[in-house]
Amino acid sequence: MKKIAVLGSTGSIGLNTLDIVRRFPEKFEITSLSCKSSIDVLAGQIMEFRPEIASVLEKKDAMDLKSRLGGSISTKIVFGDEGYKEAVSLKNVDVVVSAIVGSAGLKPTIEAIYADKEIALANKESLVAAGDIVINEAKKRNLKILPVDSEHSAIFQCLEGNRKKEAAKIFLTASGGPFRKKDISEFKNITPEQALNHPTWSMGAKISIDSATLMNKGLEIIEACVLFDLPPEMIEVVVHPQSIVHSMVGYVDGSIIAQLGKPDMREAILYSLSWPERYETNFGFPDFSMLDLNFEKPDFEKFRSLSLAFESALVRKSMPCTMNAANEEAVYAFLRKEIRFDQIFEVVENVMNKHNVFSFSSIEDVFYADHQARSKALEYIANNH
Ligand code: NAD
Ligand code: MG
Repeated sequence: MKKIAVLGSTGSIGLNTLDIVRRFPEKFEITSLSCKSSIDVLAGQIMEFRPEIASVLEKKDAMDLKSRLGGSISTKIVFGDEGYKEAVSLKNVDVVVSAIVGSAGLKPTIEAIYADKEIALANKESLVAAGDIVINEAKKRNLKILPVDSEHSAIFQCLEGNRKKEAAKIFLTASGGPFRKKDISEFKNITPEQALNHPTWSMGAKISIDSATLMNKGLEIIEACVLFDLPPEMIEVVVHPQSIVHSMVGYVDGSIIAQLGKPDMREAILYSLSWPERYETNFGFPDFSMLDLNFEKPDFEKFRSLSLAFESALVRKSMPCTMNAANEEAVYAFLRKEIRFDQIFEVVENVMNKHNVFSFSSIEDVFYADHQARSKALEYIANNH
């Protein structure tokens, strides 16, 4: 029985993770649940899964949750940084599903590694912001970080059973988002409602906007470099609108191995938890008689996020963290309708251009760079809306 802590249990990945746990009661058990503030949903999850601990961000939500649950349930309710730390560090936890959105996921993910837990990683922002630190801390403890992101799960699967040193190219697939065919001159009129409407995947708000700007692919370029220890030159982004080919690895002899499946995150989540085994599901296969699979080049001029991400991946050090933090602030400003869609690129580029790159010697340096980039982004947003 694998005992699981879920960080971000009320989000899109969190809900899909619980769906997997529900399907395999003989394989998986929930030990702790965490979210920011969706206490209605969390209360329902606690009633169903009876975890040892549940954590939220604010004390007032913890109090509210406690009174809502009454005295009948033994789940301990905790809050804040210490709360998340306790939730992931419990002796009874084998694996932590890291599915908080944004760089808020970094602290609890690092705490989980410090507590010797395996990680099923959805929170790509923590690898982008603090890749080397996260990977080195996990390596020191001989811990596995299994990818939940569908492309990285695909790459992982395409590398399995092969020699990594014989891999020559990673073809990172991208749906292209809802604005693949829109002219760049129309970008300034795109509304948050249009940008949230992803053609193939159903996801949380932040990653949906990132998919529309293709910054999600940008973050994934860096995530792949960090996770698989690859130079950015080996990564080629391929637009594949149907999201059936989840990514591919090309080998030195010209052979390409691809991983395919329906665009359903539950498959990647399940594999991150069942690896090295595969458990039987009724998810089924794509219906190829109904499908045309297409592949295109991405448009780097329309989607400057890709160039910015490749630049960050080359520079490394504090640059990816800076790009990620600026992007987060830009995305939330766009959702609040403080900036236009096309200004998301502008904010990120501006903050990156002004950034003085430095090396991280501790996790505190990462928090410092993240904070600096957010302040710079907010300043730019305030002056330009
Ligand atoms: P979401 O917005 O649906 O859910 C986010 C979760 O994080 C919620 O449970 C929320 O309560 C929690 N949270 C937010 N801020 C927090 C904070 N400050 N402290 C504690 N908890 C906090 O997001 P999502 O779409 O599920 O994405 C989660 C992560 O997984 C992101 O990093 C995303 O890039 C990655 N990811 C998501 C998908 C997908 O299909 N949704 C696919 C690949 C990777
Ligand atoms: Mg992905």
